[in-house]
Amino acid sequence: NKSVIMLKRPEEYPIPGEHFGLQESEFKPVLKNGDIATRNLALSLDPYMRPRMDAEKSYIDCFKIGEPLIAGGVAEVIESQNPRFPVGTIIEGYVGWELYTHLTEANIQDHRILHGARESSIPLSSYLGVLGMPGMTAYSSLIEVGAPKAGETIFISAAAGAVGQLVGQMAKRLGLRVVGSVGSDEKVEFLLKDLHFDAAFNYKRGNILENLRKAAPEGIDIYYENVGGEQLEAVLEQMNDHGRIVACGMISQYNTKNAYGVRNLLQVVIKRIRFEGFLVEELYAKYGEQFDKEVGSWFANKEIKYVEDVAHGIENAMDAFVGMLKGKNFGKQVVKIADL
Ligand code: NDP
Repeated sequence: NKSVIMLKRPEEYPIPGEHFGLQESEFKPVLKNGDIATRNLALSLDPYMRPRMDAEKSYIDCFKIGEPLIAGGVAEVIESQNPRFPVGTIIEGYVGWELYTHLTEANIQDHRILHGARESSIPLSSYLGVLGMPGMTAYSSLIEVGAPKAGETIFISAAAGAVGQLVGQMAKRLGLRVVGSVGSDEKVEFLLKDLHFDAAFNYKRGNILENLRKAAPEGIDIYYENVGGEQLEAVLEQMNDHGRIVACGMISQYNTKNAYGVRNLLQVVIKRIRFEGFLVEELYAKYGEQFDKEVGSWFANKEIKYVEDVAHGIENAMDAFVGMLKGKNFGKQVVKIADL
């Protein structure tokens, strides 16, 4: 087996070889009743994994030193002591950052079976992106927390990413004016030309508040918050009364111990803003079925686009992960490990 192991807790950006590293071992799992072993086909690399590298638990357990990191993945069952997951089943759920994983019964409670995945023309990585957790995040939180209404303006940060690119397209479908920010001119082009955003800017160029005022002259009704920090501070100035902030994530704060001090939180009071966080796993019960049906059909009918950035091989997972944290990814970051 080849696994990516947690070595040391990073203070800032994790460094391959120092904070996490590749380890080879023999894979000879001894399965207890209810267990399975998987051959991993593709892994999802996500921002929330960075807080999992820290020592303090956030809403999810920390990665353990000396053990493989964990990722959402698509995998084939190769050994099974569990009648729900016979050998040959294709599943989606948490596996290790590795070629093969031994999963105990307790660890596969939420794994889903991808029926028909072998025969389907849908790439397996889609179940880690548009048809998986990031898709569900965009869809459920936009409705539940954003409460969007046609004619309103939504501003999305990290707008070309796994979640952002979908929030923008879903908001357009609902008749909103869609504005996004991203970290490169190439991504700005993508938002405007491919995803038909109404306005977009590169937050690394010029003054963020001035850019926002130009891009959303009538103010912002919904802020889909992926980054925190300076952009949040600027957005608060440009929010409209009774605006909603969908607090999805704050990636600008994940790789530093010096949290950015947002200076104008009083705007939340003055403008009666609803600033609400959420965790996607808590929205599956309410939105899961509707998500599968609607987003599944939009994607199958090519009514929404979805761009993925695919790295190849477990050896390249660490660089791809750090690259994603630094904005090198163009779309949803996945790692392809093996063919079906
Ligand atoms: P992305 O695919 O958007 O990748 C991360 C992107 O963040 C990078 O591409 C980069 O884009 C941007 N970024 C990195 N550093 C900074 C910075 N300092 N300032 C501004 N932008 C930065 O990731 P996801 O779509 O998977 O995740 C987006 C957000 O959603 C994250 O905050 C994540 O934690 C959160 N999330 C929350 C969930 C929940 O349940 N609450 C579920 C899933 C995701 P660029 O080039 O534009 O800078």
